[in-house]
Amino acid sequence: MFESLSQRIEEAVHKLKGKGRITEVNVASTIKDIRRALIDADVNYKIAKQVTDDIKVEALGRKVLKSLAPGQVLIKIVHEKLTELMGGKPQEANLKGSPAIVLMAGLQGSGKTTFSGKLANLIQQKQHKKVLLVACDVYRPAAIEQLKVVGEQIGVEVYAEPDNKNPVAIAQNAVEHAKTHHYKVVVVDTAGRLAIDEVMMLEIAQIKAAIQPSETLFVVDAMTGQDAVNTAKAFNERIDFDGVVLTKMDGDTRGGAALSIRAVVDKPIKFIGTGEQMRALDTFRPEGMAGRILDMGDALLLVNEAYSDEERKAQERLQRKMRKNQFDYNDFLAQLQNIKKMGSLKDLIGALPGTNKLLRNTDLSNESLTPIEAMIYSMTPQERQKPVLLRDANRQKRIANGSGNSIQQVGQLIKQFEDMRKMMKKLNKGGKFK
Ligand code: GDP
Repeated sequence: MFESLSQRIEEAVHKLKGKGRITEVNVASTIKDIRRALIDADVNYKIAKQVTDDIKVEALGRKVLKSLAPGQVLIKIVHEKLTELMGGKPQEANLKGSPAIVLMAGLQGSGKTTFSGKLANLIQQKQHKKVLLVACDVYRPAAIEQLKVVGEQIGVEVYAEPDNKNPVAIAQNAVEHAKTHHYKVVVVDTAGRLAIDEVMMLEIAQIKAAIQPSETLFVVDAMTGQDAVNTAKAFNERIDFDGVVLTKMDGDTRGGAALSIRAVVDKPIKFIGTGEQMRALDTFRPEGMAGRILDMGDALLLVNEAYSDEERKAQERLQRKMRKNQFDYNDFLAQLQNIKKMGSLKDLIGALPGTNKLLRNTDLSNESLTPIEAMIYSMTPQERQKPVLLRDANRQKRIANGSGNSIQQVGQLIKQFEDMRKMMKKLNKGGKFK
């Protein structure tokens, strides 16, 4: 999903990482690349422009230029903006009412019948409510059969009237049937057409008016990109639906529909279909989807910290000390505590320039920090500031006793620390800190 878009954004941001000094021009050029990537992913031009303009304002306002990790701060901003673009918070379907009624709308082949089954299955499995599926496609006998097959598969009853050619009446009868038989939720599958068509629109509008659903969902194939957005617009103008279901997100969709629909029709995407099986259904989470597009895993945890001015100043102080080879145990302790605060250790590795390899080979689970901290706390203030003092075996022994660790552990810490300093010195010589 969104592979190409993810890759393009990563490349754009990567360009920023390679720069010695970041300028406004660099940032602008990266953001332009991101805009192109969005447009190529089939995001509507106006939306792509709007969102990247917003990103730019934020990026320049939030001192991306001064940040130690401009690429990461930018990614964080892009993540926020894409999340906003897709609607921010996840939105649930409204299943209130007795019975609650969910009405499906969408073109033929969009995945309505499949989704009706998935939703019925989800409600039955997760909420343990009695669900009734309703077949309202009076044009294709095969459609009724298909819904029956789905119903059987998930153990949900299907209401159909094969001889009745009036879908509005069928829907009304189904709701009555649900009331008398104590169904809690009614899921109404309707007929679609291959393209937008006045008769279809009228029919769905009439069904909606007759049964007053608590939730009307517009189902659309994500693979159709901008067409999906245009169809959504047409349906929304006519039936004012409550939410969107994007199907076939398991295919190699470029992302345009997922990114644009909310902004164009101002209705939230509520579910995504990720396969043909009944279980292949997810609720739509804008934040998670943006994270997937940016392919960034837990890196966010780290970038959260990159924001505060205090943090930035501390990092700059630290860099100055590193440059002057003055990095001491107090700094080391402060870094470890920072790392702990942020929760995810590996993500922070980049914050200590040049130490990546060193720390990667060390056991850096959070629990493993406690003995290191204890050892540093057992050092005298002079020892922390003047690490050479610790080459003395008696001092090492005292620290081992004081912290409850073995002399070997103390020796290991000192060795690691010295190696780290050496690495920093080397980097200084190579001019890498600049
Ligand atoms: P309808 O005409 O709107 O009722 O669409 P169907 O439910 O019959 O779906 C059309 C085709 O798309 C069927 O072959 C489904 O198996 C397939 N389909 C539906 N949803 C998904 C999905 O999320 N992923 C994939 N890969 N296929 C889907």
